[in-house]
Amino acid sequence: MADIKSKIKKLAEKYSKEIIDLRRKIHRNPELSFEEYETSKLVYEKLSKLKIDRVQRVSQTGVVGLIKNKNGKCVGLRADMDALPIHEKTGLPFASKNHGVMHACGHDAHTSMLYGAALILNEIKAELNGSVKLIFQPAEEKNPGGASILIKQGVLENPKVNAIFGQHVMVDKPAGSLGFCEGVTFASQDELYITIYGRQSHGAKPHKSIDPIVTASGVVMALQTIVSRNTSPYDPIVITIGAIHGGTATNIIPSEVKLMGTIRTLNENLRKKSLKLIERTIKGITQAAGAKYKFEISPGYPELNNDSKLTDFARKAAVDFSGSKNVFKSERIMGAEDFAFYLKKKPGTFYRIGAGRTSDIHTQTINIDEKTLPVGAGFMAYLAVKYLNSNQ
Ligand SMILES: [Zn+2]
Ligand SMILES: [Zn+2]
Repeated sequence: MADIKSKIKKLAEKYSKEIIDLRRKIHRNPELSFEEYETSKLVYEKLSKLKIDRVQRVSQTGVVGLIKNKNGKCVGLRADMDALPIHEKTGLPFASKNHGVMHACGHDAHTSMLYGAALILNEIKAELNGSVKLIFQPAEEKNPGGASILIKQGVLENPKVNAIFGQHVMVDKPAGSLGFCEGVTFASQDELYITIYGRQSHGAKPHKSIDPIVTASGVVMALQTIVSRNTSPYDPIVITIGAIHGGTATNIIPSEVKLMGTIRTLNENLRKKSLKLIERTIKGITQAAGAKYKFEISPGYPELNNDSKLTDFARKAAVDFSGSKNVFKSERIMGAEDFAFYLKKKPGTFYRIGAGRTSDIHTQTINIDEKTLPVGAGFMAYLAVKYLNSNQ
């Protein structure tokens, strides 16, 4: 394995310019979730040129490749390709040319690192003890999540994927350092859409109204008591109302108010229970006010549960590849990630890769350190080779 490790490191070095160039190209032309037409075309063409065993388009904007040597296990490696509705302000020479759209979550880096892993694995194909499925998925940032769609379209079959790995950049960690966390690492996520219907009136005649603004205010406050009074303090939950819209003037009580929010939990039981509690609360408050309501849930992602054995396996591979000082324990967060869908079907782990000191993901000024990229490509390739040679 020492031999293959140095071979992979040399190849990561050899391809680093190509990997960085691809990242810059994708960064310059970011596309929103489910609209990754140019990005997926680019990935498809680049993979096709490598003459790997199979390259397929999946769904509208997904691409899946296969590198196969022997009839052994199959390991899945995944990258997401979508950008966010944010206006870039990095001032980089390869900054977004699409107004209001930006790769602010590092998915440009994920895509180029997986492509880099494909370059490396294709070159050492004769030494692969099985096959590697390269999953370039759309729409991590938007419900129902590209992962759930690709799974329905059979991405984990033919050949059957035995284990799956994915990585996500993490700011403020040294470039190329690798972080692992076993068990539940990311939260479940569902979107809430609430409309409160009242009765419109003159602002000076509130007795003639059913005031949806006062009712909506009551709903917002009461929803916070679900966290503090209806669920266990040992079982984390977040309920955030992120938008409230209603009314047009100082002296008109409007007929309706719309609320939007998100709910995060770390297990399916609390997820189901809290959605019921939310509806009960809305119903109670609106009934008391004589108002009516509509409550809609856009189902998001389940909690992300990293397999403990494979997380430990990947952590050891990282120590082996990069040295223990470049490996850290990553923390559980209440953010969500659609890689969770793969982990509901197959064991694996979703790990973090340090992207250097920069502003946070989902901000206009994030600028990842490109030294991250060859390391991320090399480690993904090494992890795949190690897994195929293991008895995991
Ligand atoms: Zn994101
Ligand atoms: Zn992301």
